[in-house]
Amino acid sequence: MTPIIRTVAGLRALSRGWKAAGETVGVVPTMGALHEGHLSLARRARGECDRVVTTIFVNPRQFNNPEDLKKYPRSEDADAALLATVPVDAIFAPPVEEVYPDGFITNVTMQGVAQPLEGYMRPGHFDGVATVVTKLFGMSLADRGYFGQKDWQQLQVVLRLVRDLNVPVEVVGCETIRDPDGLAMSSRNMRLTAAGRGRAPVLYAAITAAANDIRAGHADRMAIREAAETMRAAGFERVEYIELRDAETLMPSDDPSRPRRMLAAAWIDGVRLIDNIPV
Ligand code: AMP
Repeated sequence: MTPIIRTVAGLRALSRGWKAAGETVGVVPTMGALHEGHLSLARRARGECDRVVTTIFVNPRQFNNPEDLKKYPRSEDADAALLATVPVDAIFAPPVEEVYPDGFITNVTMQGVAQPLEGYMRPGHFDGVATVVTKLFGMSLADRGYFGQKDWQQLQVVLRLVRDLNVPVEVVGCETIRDPDGLAMSSRNMRLTAAGRGRAPVLYAAITAAANDIRAGHADRMAIREAAETMRAAGFERVEYIELRDAETLMPSDDPSRPRRMLAAAWIDGVRLIDNIPV
């Protein structure tokens, strides 16, 4: 079985040994409840790095809603079994006190790309992400870090973070893995009822249709409004946002000569789903 490391000292010792032998280290940060999306990141890292560490840490600082944190699924044994199929060299699954010991006072705070959309809907979320990612990079001594495009804004935040703080980690963005019906895989999907799971793929279908309409010359606003209506008609309780943004800065963009991204967040069955696609 894959070794499960609980301490920063343990992870550092392992990583130092690898690096002393001239090996490259890839880190795949996750919050566990692993699925094929996470495994695709680990497999990519496996193909590009000599050593791979997957971290499993449900980071309390990136939850703005205590209920969401409490309900977050945890399944370490099943996660370890899945990671053994990749395989990875180590799992880093520290307790909260190891990551945030008494006296912890330092935070990474970001403006710009971290402010709109998820940053606006979930105050403090990206500061929590930026802080823990900075720490995980420092703990693992990784050469590369692997992140999913599923969380597009998070990926842009991490790319900006390593540039701004001169963190010597190459950030690799990986394709979103979807179920055959188009629903982006997410640990949150398991909280959907059968009926909600049946309707959830409408999120991806609706933004895909809107993106196609925009490419065909339809007005951005009209296409987005139609997508929101389609989702409400399919039973989404709430469409938080559907936005066409500059793919890198996440600022509003009506400049089709720059890469743009359509991003959406919506609630179905009391579960908040997000997705995004290139336009
Ligand atoms: P999480 O455990 O949800 O924090 O996700 C850990 C990493 O896996 C993040 O970089 C996510 O973007 C990535 N990820 C989650 N779901 C998917 C997916 N369906 N496809 C690709 N990457 C994903």
